Amino acid sequence: MFIDSHCHIDFPELAARMPEILAKMAENKVSHALCVSVDLPDFPRVLALAEQFPHIYASVGVHPDYEDTPEPTVEQLVELAKHPRIVAIGETGLDYYRLQGDLEWQRERFRTHIRASRESRKPLIIHTRSASEDTIRIMREEGAGTDKGGVAGVMHCFTESLEVARASMEQGFYISFSGIVTFKSAKELQAVALEVPLERMLIETDSPYLAPVPYRGKMNEPGFVAHVAEFIAKLKGVPLEQVAEQTSANFFKLFKDAA
Ligand SMILES: [Zn+2]
Ligand SMILES: [Zn+2]
Repeated sequence: MFIDSHCHIDFPELAARMPEILAKMAENKVSHALCVSVDLPDFPRVLALAEQFPHIYASVGVHPDYEDTPEPTVEQLVELAKHPRIVAIGETGLDYYRLQGDLEWQRERFRTHIRASRESRKPLIIHTRSASEDTIRIMREEGAGTDKGGVAGVMHCFTESLEVARASMEQGFYISFSGIVTFKSAKELQAVALEVPLERMLIETDSPYLAPVPYRGKMNEPGFVAHVAEFIAKLKGVPLEQVAEQTSANFFKLFKDAA
């Protein structure tokens, strides 16, 4: 069984096809999926999915790319995270690729999420793009990692260097690979995936985006996470079953409120 550790099946284009999506998960042996929150106005529909389906979990957080959206407070996130179906805080982090200019608000928002994670003892889902130095620095400053009393989390849809992966793992974080790792052009990322031990790895789709080969360019969905696992198994030269078992065990070890 595989687990999609990061998807956005509450987005209308996927939510409209829910029966199909659940059937594809079953067909491809994808036992669970974590539906990740991107802003507070849409959080109720994320939570509703986790309440409706026992194998769908949810997180609460505000994505760094969402500029014109209500800013969360630590108290608010901690309060919302008390719900038993909420297993993580995020997605949060920094994105200097999509947005430019003075992004101090993004860094402040990121700090808010780390504080909420420490207080609620729920792990972080971190998004970082063209901002790895600041991301790692703020994780350290705020004590996101287990080395500083935090509960760590996952570096989702990882596309950074091995150095960034190591700095994250040192803080107790897991590294999650998406369909990007299957792309022909992703040689550097494949080299990173080869070095990240299976014991520190999660797999995800980030659907509806980033469909893996052989579905590249199509709308992605949780069932396709099996193709990410297949690619990693080949890359590492290990049985697919081992990738399935280890990444699923990692998921439940990290998201300890998921059961
Ligand atoms: Zn993301
Ligand atoms: Zn996402």
